[in-house]
Amino acid sequence: MSEMYDLIIIGAGPGGYVAAERAGHMGKKVLLIEKAHLGGVCLNEGCIPSKTLLNSSKYYTHAKHAETFGVKVEKVSFDLGAVMQRKEKVIDTLRKGIAYQMKRHHVEVVTGEAVIKGRGEVAVGETVYGTRNILIATGSSAIRIPIPGHDLPHVATSREMLQIGALPKKLVVIGGGVIGMEFACFASDLGVEVTVIEMLPEIVPNFDNDIAETLRKALKGVTYHLGAKVEAIEPDKVLFSKDGKQQSVEADFVLMSVGRAPNVKGIGLEQVGVDITRQGIVVDDQMRTNIPGIYAIGDVTGKMQLAHTASRMGEVAVKTMFGLQDRMRYHAVPWVVYTHPEVAGVGVTEKEAAAKGLEVQVSKLPLKASGRFLAENDSRAPGFCKVIVDAKSKVLLGCHMLGADCSEIIYGAAAMIEAELRVQDIRDIIYPHPTVGEVMRDALWEIEI
Ligand code: FAD
Repeated sequence: MSEMYDLIIIGAGPGGYVAAERAGHMGKKVLLIEKAHLGGVCLNEGCIPSKTLLNSSKYYTHAKHAETFGVKVEKVSFDLGAVMQRKEKVIDTLRKGIAYQMKRHHVEVVTGEAVIKGRGEVAVGETVYGTRNILIATGSSAIRIPIPGHDLPHVATSREMLQIGALPKKLVVIGGGVIGMEFACFASDLGVEVTVIEMLPEIVPNFDNDIAETLRKALKGVTYHLGAKVEAIEPDKVLFSKDGKQQSVEADFVLMSVGRAPNVKGIGLEQVGVDITRQGIVVDDQMRTNIPGIYAIGDVTGKMQLAHTASRMGEVAVKTMFGLQDRMRYHAVPWVVYTHPEVAGVGVTEKEAAAKGLEVQVSKLPLKASGRFLAENDSRAPGFCKVIVDAKSKVLLGCHMLGADCSEIIYGAAAMIEAELRVQDIRDIIYPHPTVGEVMRDALWEIEI
């Protein structure tokens, strides 16, 4: 066996590599084991490549409609090959950045598939490494529902969709969640006929109702079948049932975007008796599993499948194992859908407030109230900011936005919710002008205190 590590991390996604960096920074002896590439799903087949593609389709759309802004562009075209090449370059640069950070924090990196052999023992092939703590950060994988035709060559998950060599003519997206809607937006920006089939009555069902409905209507090139269940996929169509009737829609490419399952198999969890449910590895709010010395973070816990949640969980796990106080709080985790328009939110929605019996005050303003928004967007562009405040304490509980650039604004609301700021506290904060974010402050001025 090797010399003793303070921490061995399995998986170098945004959970694992951030945890490694933090532990290295504390002067701990850290080994990070990754079977594929540094950066995990997020960097290699998730957040970064999808945002790179969406940015190109956004530029393409802007160029096509540049005349609105007094700019004439002739012969606009989209070069998918060049876009894919750029995406690979972005990924490569960021991978090198992570490798540099690991070196800087004296983290040892091993490429290979890790298996837990026992408490304090992790193997990669024949080599067994000894450690005081194990952190499982193995992430998740796309689910394929086993309906007839799910394995046909034109049926993809997000992973293959990010590698396509040519645009389809007719794309069916099964699942109107975040990932499905981002790809639906990308393809429809480029003129692909897109149909989204969603089993629930609305797309992005956990989000604020106004956001989901406005987003659905804003993506004008997309056709929706809501409350519909896909039954089978054929080489040229997708069969589904809705209101008890069988229907079909033509498709030369199908994206199955129906969720992700935790990667819990083949890593030796049974050997040590780590508790698992269908959702993932069971952890407390300090990322401890039921086995002392074994922690889990990120998608593999099934708590919230977001990169920034995984990273924060990594920080909490590292602090906990090395004797510092911290715990995970999920109520102020912001989320974003990078469609055009973008949507972003944090904290409770009106729906959740009603379900929890919370008495709230709600204020909603159009983004057109912002000079910056109007200056930079088509006057017909949708956009709003909705704030939700506790009626008694006046503490901000939620903020939900739709419109260009709201991904860059939402963290401000997250910070306010985390700090439990009241309306009167936020009114004292000075926002730069002109910015779209000012609408949030204006919306809070509409709340009676
Ligand atoms: P992962 O990133 O999944 O990393 C786990 C790593 O563990 C992988 O590299 C894997 O190879 C490795 N591994 C697994 N088993 C072993 C083993 N036995 N030995 C060694 N290594 C192993 N989230 C956002 O917050 N914003 C977004 O915009 C966003 N966009 C997304 C777009 C798409 C298309 C997808 C698919 C996901 C997106 N996500 C987004 C979700 C985000 O990617 C995940 O929440 C995040 O990657 C989870 O991080 P993680 O560290 O838990 O695991």
